[in-house]
Amino acid sequence: MAAVPLLFGLLALFVQSDGRPYGLLEGNPQDWKDPGYLQIVWAESPNFGPRPADAVIDTIVLHHTANTTLGGVVRWFATTESQVSSHYTIGKDGSIAQHVSTFDRAWHAGKSVDKFGRENLNNFTVGIEMVNKGDGEDKWTDEQVEAVRLLILSLKRRFPLKYITTHEYIAVPKGRKNDPKNFPWEKLYGTGLEIIR
Ligand SMILES: [Zn+2]
Repeated sequence: MAAVPLLFGLLALFVQSDGRPYGLLEGNPQDWKDPGYLQIVWAESPNFGPRPADAVIDTIVLHHTANTTLGGVVRWFATTESQVSSHYTIGKDGSIAQHVSTFDRAWHAGKSVDKFGRENLNNFTVGIEMVNKGDGEDKWTDEQVEAVRLLILSLKRRFPLKYITTHEYIAVPKGRKNDPKNFPWEKLYGTGLEIIR
């Protein structure tokens, strides 16, 4: 656990550039409280492993959670039973939970291939979940999309990111996933990332 404050400090540098304090989730995830817009909280998941040594992290994968609360996602990812995680989950109000270090391999994409034929996207991507029911009607809030946008801009300083894609576009077999459903791409302006599908 000694690495956690260090990683968190790094994150603070990247994300909390305005100097606002960040919080740590202490103890049981049942105690979860949404930290608020652009506030980032470490909410560890045991569901991760090492990336391949030669991984070049150049792609973001977006997801919807099919869940209504950030706390619910935090609790689910904190269980070994779920066998899933992401690097980040963004709440409706722009709260940010980080579950896995971006230097590690989170388990968000499952069986996957991108349009370049690259398989197993967990190896070389950063996974961002966004709280949304995924029924096609649940609204994407401006705060949430803006938090994703700013997070991506901060991640670009750390990794040679070039592409952004979605679980829908990479899931194998095609049609296995549909997330993030009805995502408002026009609000994710200025990242400089190419959308690949
Ligand atoms: Zn997904």
